[in-house]
Amino acid sequence: MRASFRLDLRFAADGSHEWPDCPSKGSEMTDRLGKADHEEHVDLLVIGWGKGGKTLAGTAARLGQRVALIEQSADMIGGSCINVACVPTKILIHDAAVRRESDDPDDYFAAAVARRDTLTAAMRQKNFSLLDQLDSVLLVSGRAEFTGEREVLVTGGDDTLRITADTVIINTGSVPAVPSINGAQIGGSIHNSETLQHVSPLPRSLVVVGGGYVGLEFAGMFAHYDSAVTVLDRGERLLGHEDADVAETVAEVLRGDGVTIISGATVTSVVDGDDRASITYLAAGEEHQIDADAVLVALGRSAATEGLGLERAGVTTDDRGYVVVDEYLRTSAPGVFAVGDVNGGPQFTYVSLDDNRTIADQLFGDGQRSTDDRVAVPYTMFLTPPLSRVGLTEDQARSEGYDVQVGVKKMADIAAAPRAKIEGDPRGIVKFVVDGATDQVLGAALMHVHSQEVINLVALAIRHKITATALRDSIYTHPSSTEALNEVLAALS
Ligand SMILES: Cc1cc2nc3c(=O)[nH]c(=O)nc-3n(C[C@H](O)[C@H](O)[C@H](O)COP(=O)(O)OP(=O)(O)OC[C@H]3O[C@@H](n4cnc5c(N)ncnc54)[C@H](O)[C@@H]3O)c2cc1C
Repeated sequence: MRASFRLDLRFAADGSHEWPDCPSKGSEMTDRLGKADHEEHVDLLVIGWGKGGKTLAGTAARLGQRVALIEQSADMIGGSCINVACVPTKILIHDAAVRRESDDPDDYFAAAVARRDTLTAAMRQKNFSLLDQLDSVLLVSGRAEFTGEREVLVTGGDDTLRITADTVIINTGSVPAVPSINGAQIGGSIHNSETLQHVSPLPRSLVVVGGGYVGLEFAGMFAHYDSAVTVLDRGERLLGHEDADVAETVAEVLRGDGVTIISGATVTSVVDGDDRASITYLAAGEEHQIDADAVLVALGRSAATEGLGLERAGVTTDDRGYVVVDEYLRTSAPGVFAVGDVNGGPQFTYVSLDDNRTIADQLFGDGQRSTDDRVAVPYTMFLTPPLSRVGLTEDQARSEGYDVQVGVKKMADIAAAPRAKIEGDPRGIVKFVVDGATDQVLGAALMHVHSQEVINLVALAIRHKITATALRDSIYTHPSSTEALNEVLAALS
């Protein structure tokens, strides 16, 4: 495929790309959905360079299939995770956490941003070359829309390419939800999670609208860069889906870092002034106003399906706009699958990766694997220290009728696990929810240094039915955060 016809992203340091001259290029486009400048047929077509799709593209190509992968933006080679989500935010969060009081906030923030840019550019380059080196992969720069069943039109500048495929993978991800708050359009000093990562200079004050995981990660991060941060959250208390003791620990940590948290606050309007924004909100029946250098609107995500023409492909969506899939990630259209955020499952990179495993098993394996096999999917909110969760909360376990036993301690009070003290941040909590009838771990909430690592051990234990007693009596390295399990699981009640 490479030798005869190749429309590929020209990866350049400035993020620009061009469409190379092709033998068939030059025909007039009279009917955009009816006629294209070029035509291709492939075995597997992936729309969007997300985690699941790019992994499937590589697997299929290595098995000898002809593959096309379409990405709309040269800045998004490799997908959201490495460009606008997990990796860049975690670089900025890490550098914020290790900032010293004596570091000049503006210079320090600028240096962190530069480090972020260097690392993400290297990851884009690596992601590009991993697929580019496979001869049977056609990398297409442009925006895709369905024109029929397993038929897609790609538009890149003035050029168009029609691709038909035996199998299509929709991997277009999600985008920040657009709220219906007066004046909250993104621009100027009003940001979403993507634009705020490029703010310059460092805002002296930041209002975060929304106390979900994206909002709180940014709140904690900017507080460590020395911004004055206020979180406005509609809930009665922060993180209403977590147990009260865990949510209160998170709130204590954030407040300790200087974040002001206002719960029960409904934002009614945002006004973007010349150099500051003004936010109006209702709390306890009264109207309040607050000004800030920057506002982050973090009120959830929406499926990235706008303009994708799913109806022309026979692909149905739910009432939130997400692609409807079954447990094998098949859409309503034969031969069309959806992976990652766009299918309405848990929105994490590792879930998109796991979606890839299910589809690879459908396409190249024995077709047994399904999303129903997923047990105990952990997640981490990258606060400082991070909050990691898996399984049921205590409240959920009680309402589901389990014989609940709980082991809970503040990290600072756990004598047998000095790691957090050694690293200078003993804040946080370790909480286990155990089924007294079976000794099985039902869930855990870990907020402490390295909890993003320890939670994977707990998730594995739940999956493989390793009992709380076995976890309590296991040998762990010292000094590590994992040692907390010895002590906390010895005090179940
Ligand atoms: C601020 C933030 C922080 C996050 N942090 C974490 C974290 O720490 N850990 C974690 O696991 N998850 C994190 N997430 C979630 C994670 O980023 C997503 O779950 C994951 O990236 C989803 O990947 P995906 O496979 O669905 O597709 P994506 O990686 O989103 O890729 C979709 C691609 O499709 C392209 N595309 C869209 N429409 C078209 C079209 N019509 N034609 C061509 N191309 C198109 C897009 O440009 C994009 O490159 C975070 C999210 C945010 C917003």
